[in-house]
Amino acid sequence: MPFDLTLTPAQQDLVARTHDFAENVVRPVAAEYDRNQEFPWPVLEEAAERGFYSPLFYRDLIGDPTGLSLPVFMEELFWGCAGIGLAIVMPALALSSIGQAATPEQMLRWAPECFGTPGDLKLAALAISEPQGGSDVRNLRTTARRDGDDWIIDGHKMWIGNGGIANVHVVNAVVDPELGHRGQGLFVVPGGTPGLELVRKLDKLGCRASHTAELRFNGCRIPGENLLGGEEKLARRFDRVREAQKNGGSGSKGSSTLGTFEQTRPMVAAQAIGIARAALEFATEYANEREAFGAPIIRNQGVSFPLADIAMQIDAARLLTWRAAWMAANGVDFRRGEGSMSKLAASEVAVRATEQAIQTCGGWGYISDNPVEKWYRDAKLYTIFEGTSEIQRVVIGQALGAAEGTPPLHVDLGPSGWSLDRTFGRGTPARTRAGQMLLSAKDKVPSPMLKLAMKVIAPPKK
Ligand SMILES: Cc1cc2nc3c(=O)[nH]c(=O)nc-3n(C[C@H](O)[C@H](O)[C@H](O)COP(=O)(O)OP(=O)(O)OC[C@H]3O[C@@H](n4cnc5c(N)ncnc54)[C@H](O)[C@@H]3O)c2cc1C
Repeated sequence: MPFDLTLTPAQQDLVARTHDFAENVVRPVAAEYDRNQEFPWPVLEEAAERGFYSPLFYRDLIGDPTGLSLPVFMEELFWGCAGIGLAIVMPALALSSIGQAATPEQMLRWAPECFGTPGDLKLAALAISEPQGGSDVRNLRTTARRDGDDWIIDGHKMWIGNGGIANVHVVNAVVDPELGHRGQGLFVVPGGTPGLELVRKLDKLGCRASHTAELRFNGCRIPGENLLGGEEKLARRFDRVREAQKNGGSGSKGSSTLGTFEQTRPMVAAQAIGIARAALEFATEYANEREAFGAPIIRNQGVSFPLADIAMQIDAARLLTWRAAWMAANGVDFRRGEGSMSKLAASEVAVRATEQAIQTCGGWGYISDNPVEKWYRDAKLYTIFEGTSEIQRVVIGQALGAAEGTPPLHVDLGPSGWSLDRTFGRGTPARTRAGQMLLSAKDKVPSPMLKLAMKVIAPPKK
């Protein structure tokens, strides 16, 4: 499917419904949940009632071939509040990992467990990061070992969204230490499993309505079937890695954990754009109304130019995000780090936009009477989680090196549309010659005939 910026009627409806939820349900309570650092259960219930909290909802979004349903939903929801937004979408991150690793039977078993149903909500967590390293997934130390039919998980995880309160914890752990980071498997540890310990809920700068925790796995026993993808698939993967390592290779081009992140980055980028847009809208409105020296402050270029820059950067980030989302939906490889580009651009503009919003509002921006100081604290998370800004640059830099000499994506993608365009399309020599002949004959050919001929050589309509 070609990349298209126009939204379908269903997507426009999704935007309108999500915006209504963000404006009328999320925003009115955002400051309170932030202040109390409390998990927003009633808002999750309302999200579930409205159809925004279910595996089927995400199946629809991910299955959309235009790729745009997921980012437009994220942008509107996070425009409301990023902390509450994270509480609502956290299970989708876990579901995305399950979707990439699980067998169809496992997907059917665990997807409903990640969300529950209205009146009986459930939560899911994706537990990758560890205290000694979030960026360096090669340095993860949590282990999984076989004991009869079961697996035993031991380890320590840090900064885990919904950690310890989730019904489903998707956990990566080292199964074969000799294979380094390629010896990892992905497991489901159900909430309440003996040995799964919520060490502490973390006290955060921003996104405080979401629950983030430190976890320990002390000899956590889980059934063999909780290994996502199954044992045979894992054994085949390990055999391939061993074979490749014997031949001096690594067995794959990159870490599977990093690959998963690359796919979910546009989703996270769209969240950051939601925060940035909220800040720009607030600052612009404020600057139009606030007067200093007898005129609205927006009349000063010192105020309007930074806002103009932010507006331009938000649109640029959104275009990168929609492109990456379209690529993910259409199976186009992120060969140039396009997922990382979207996340890097969006998270950095979110920090700049919220900072500029505070500056625009002056003293009123610095106190909690207005939401911009909260948005600033929320935005900062986006340059840290799902890969820090530096790690995004590492990914893009590596892709740049690997793709050296290849043309940009739009040249690299095959043609789409009418084959006639190739010979008589825009800017072709044949078309130019025909046009020139008609122009030179314009005084000799009667006007109705000339008009007809011009119609024939007019750009082809699709
Ligand atoms: C609120 C919150 C929620 C989170 N939620 C989750 C979650 O649900 N699940 C989960 O698994 N994790 C989660 N994380 C963890 C998050 O993904 C990590 O914090 C992040 O990946 C960074 O890891 P780190 O904190 O260990 O920093 P480090 O990896 O120690 O990095 C420290 C600094 O060094 C820089 N750096 C490291 N390596 C390089 C390099 N090669 N080149 C240049 N600079 C480098 C980093 O960019 C960073 O600035 C969350 C974190 C937070 C704060």
